[in-house]
Amino acid sequence: MKKYIFVVGGVMSGVGKGVAAASIAKILQSRGFETTAIKIDPYVNVDAGTMNPTEHGEVFVLDDGMECDQDMGNYERFLDRDLTKDNYMTTGSIYQSVINRERNLGYGGKCVEVVPHIPLEVISRIEKAAEKNKADITVVEIGGTVGEYQNILFLEAVRMLKIKKPDDVLLILVSYLPIQNEQSELKTKPTQYAVRTLNSAGLQPDIILARAGVSLDKKRKEKIAFNCNMADEEVISAPDVKSIYEVPVNFERDNLGNLILRKLKIKTRKQDLKNWRKLAKIVKESKKPVRIGIIGKYFGSGEFILADSYISVIEAIKHAAYYFNRQPVIQWLNAEEFEHPSSASSSRFSGTSTIRKRLSELTKNLKKLKEFDGIIVPGGFGSRGVEGKINAIRYLRDNKIPFLGLCYGMQLATIEFARNVAGFKKANTTEIAQETPYPVIDILPEQKQKLAKKDYGGSMRLGAYPAVLKKGTIAYAAYKTHLVSERHRHRYEVNPEYIERLEKKGLVFSGFSSDRRLMEILELPKKKHPFFVATQFHPEFKSRPLKPHPLFREFVRIATSH
Ligand code: GLN
Repeated sequence: MKKYIFVVGGVMSGVGKGVAAASIAKILQSRGFETTAIKIDPYVNVDAGTMNPTEHGEVFVLDDGMECDQDMGNYERFLDRDLTKDNYMTTGSIYQSVINRERNLGYGGKCVEVVPHIPLEVISRIEKAAEKNKADITVVEIGGTVGEYQNILFLEAVRMLKIKKPDDVLLILVSYLPIQNEQSELKTKPTQYAVRTLNSAGLQPDIILARAGVSLDKKRKEKIAFNCNMADEEVISAPDVKSIYEVPVNFERDNLGNLILRKLKIKTRKQDLKNWRKLAKIVKESKKPVRIGIIGKYFGSGEFILADSYISVIEAIKHAAYYFNRQPVIQWLNAEEFEHPSSASSSRFSGTSTIRKRLSELTKNLKKLKEFDGIIVPGGFGSRGVEGKINAIRYLRDNKIPFLGLCYGMQLATIEFARNVAGFKKANTTEIAQETPYPVIDILPEQKQKLAKKDYGGSMRLGAYPAVLKKGTIAYAAYKTHLVSERHRHRYEVNPEYIERLEKKGLVFSGFSSDRRLMEILELPKKKHPFFVATQFHPEFKSRPLKPHPLFREFVRIATSH
């Protein structure tokens, strides 16, 4: 059995199409079908690796090193499956393979055309991914909204696949119903237009998920159904919920699973969402908070973007908090607020009175860190906010506040320790200070050549690599194993020339590559600090709702008992 469910968006983007797709996959998986999910991004970038997180959200990384859209993270988290590059494609990657094939005479002298060759490549990739994942049901999310110039060829792929396999293809439109104010009603007209746009592409949705701030009333449901040539029951209400983990449970409450199976002509099976329901209940009902601060720098574009830039970190905190029946309270801390006036990059702090004022502000800001149960310094690039992060890490170390550093967070913790404990006063990373006398963080040798050639795309150390853990450390106790595999995305590393010197001063490298060349985890001994741990890899990419990542779990455990 090979069935395909396409999820497309109408009216506007950013209304939870990815979570809807992940939830549809989840409820079908919960009925015992092997289910996988694919994301299609309509942009020309070959992958998401070169994109700025403030514009497109977090770059998610798969085991095989694929740099992709954050929705892939949602699929992995909901399905508890490790996905591969076969489950992700962009317009750029599709064109790239079609053009390469043409150059290699792969089309046997034919004229290669946008239609049908581009949609055919899309279809062949979808079928290959379904095959590779041994999936009974494959959910394919098409990025963007219908009517955009960008995704028309993907809609054409749906049309062509539907002709080939009429009983095996289902089309779900996730639409949005705006409301003017509390007194007015949900407006269905934009959804009707979205369906007409689909119609003009030769497609008719089988199901509409009507996203809105509130539930759909009977009248609105009937209106959409009548105007869009559908039955009332094919219009499903999808109101806002507090947590994305409630969405599958809500969909099943509306019998979406049965409806999909019936339409795909599959015999229905009983669902088992027991553990998921338990999780949704904890999300709703847990009261005791755990307060976690994240020191970041992507502050330019407001809360919403910020949450998008660090989505896997946020989700990993949540998973660990729910594991201990806690309500995660996450707060953003701007790295620049922790900058010492002498190290601040701009001249805005010149003049003694400004400096004095700034110093007292800094003391206040640092003190605020004590109000948190734990602090995370996540990944990042470049120089902005770096000195503030280093200053904050020093405060966390001195004041025994639980600290978890991720990637750049580990590199900055190394710099802080080198400067303030090991006596390498101007220690730095060559990413931002090539002239530093103590390059404790330096570029990976293989990265040097790539950068010299301006070969940026997919050029970092990417994807899963094994790490060996040292017995008797916090890391070892958390993982309870000797060998782990974690995902990476970086160009710089702890400079091997400083490892011994830092260790002599009390820094513990508790995880490293099998050849001991690359340091993967650092920590301080338990008797020195309750939890001071940082990783070169990104543990957040492997955390799952019902299986929090061991390091996040341990971090939250200590944070809540601190
Ligand atoms: N900028 C650092 C590097 O390239 C850290 C990267 C990250 O945090 N993902 O090594």
